[in-house]
Amino acid sequence: AAKADGKGVCRFFSADMTERASRFLAMEMELRQALARDELELHYQPKMSLADGRLHGVEALVRWRHPTRGLLMPADFIPVAEDSGIIVALGDWVLTEACRQAAVWQGRMGTIAVNVSGRQMERVDLVARIGELTARYGIPPAYLQIELTESMIMGDPERAAGLLGKLRELGITVAIDDFGTGYSSLSYLRRLPIDVLKIDRSFVLGTGTDQEVTEIARTVVALGQALRMAVVAEGIEAEAQATLLRDMGCDLGQGYLYAEPLAAAALEAWLAAGRGAG
Ligand code: C2E
Ligand code: MG
Ligand code: MG
Ligand code: MG
Repeated sequence: AAKADGKGVCRFFSADMTERASRFLAMEMELRQALARDELELHYQPKMSLADGRLHGVEALVRWRHPTRGLLMPADFIPVAEDSGIIVALGDWVLTEACRQAAVWQGRMGTIAVNVSGRQMERVDLVARIGELTARYGIPPAYLQIELTESMIMGDPERAAGLLGKLRELGITVAIDDFGTGYSSLSYLRRLPIDVLKIDRSFVLGTGTDQEVTEIARTVVALGQALRMAVVAEGIEAEAQATLLRDMGCDLGQGYLYAEPLAAAALEAWLAAGRGAG
């Protein structure tokens, strides 16, 4: 009986795997089509100066305007893009679109921060590609900022050091994203040319309500200051969080309190309504 059960379980498991594999393949094909049919969009979320409430810059976040399923979020398709390798082409689309938009805005929204994935960083000569794109669109590279996660940077700090150094030479600032969720070597952190430290939303969420989390946030802000990085808190939803973080010395805040990620036209309307004026 035990053997029969085992077999049953095995058959069930393999059917489930087959279903998952075919869903993955279907999604992979759809994603390739999405790129070919131009179904991706960038939305832009403001980063605000906490001291004076002015717009400082934006982060570009990719969305998929799916023909039948509506607007899909990165969590719905980035994992498949990563596992299939499509992330390289997708990331290149994102970079290109951000440069095109930067040429339209001419710095009016501050720097545009672009998220780069690990696989993209490994496979593409980012420095050469950004050089090409900024030349094609006639924009100073300083209009761009690159966001790399803490885990990506610390996964291979020597390699990251080379890339970061070249980006800085080009005049592109670099942010370390989701800080506090990976494992940073403080000696590397000190030596790497990183301009901006983004405190992960999980720490911002508990600021003001959870005493331990509040103290961690304070410590991370102090660490960023000690390393002469601009500190950004991501995921600010409440005024009380903003006030506390500002008083800790955090420079910038990003979150639903100010604005959700907005399509380019909606961001222009938001700015025209005076929301970024302090
Ligand atoms: P991230 O880079 O840490 O981006 C911040 C995420 O937090 C965004 O989610 C943003 O919408 C969300 N967020 C901002 N403020 C708030 C808030 O007040 N409350 C809450 N609950 N959430 C807030 P989104 O757009 O879903 O993106 C998720 C992740 O997907 C990003 O995290 C980034 O890792 C990845 N991603 C997004 N766009 C790209 C892209 O173009 N390329 C790559 N490689 N990854 C991307
Ligand atoms: Mg980011
Ligand atoms: Mg982040
Ligand atoms: Mg995050």
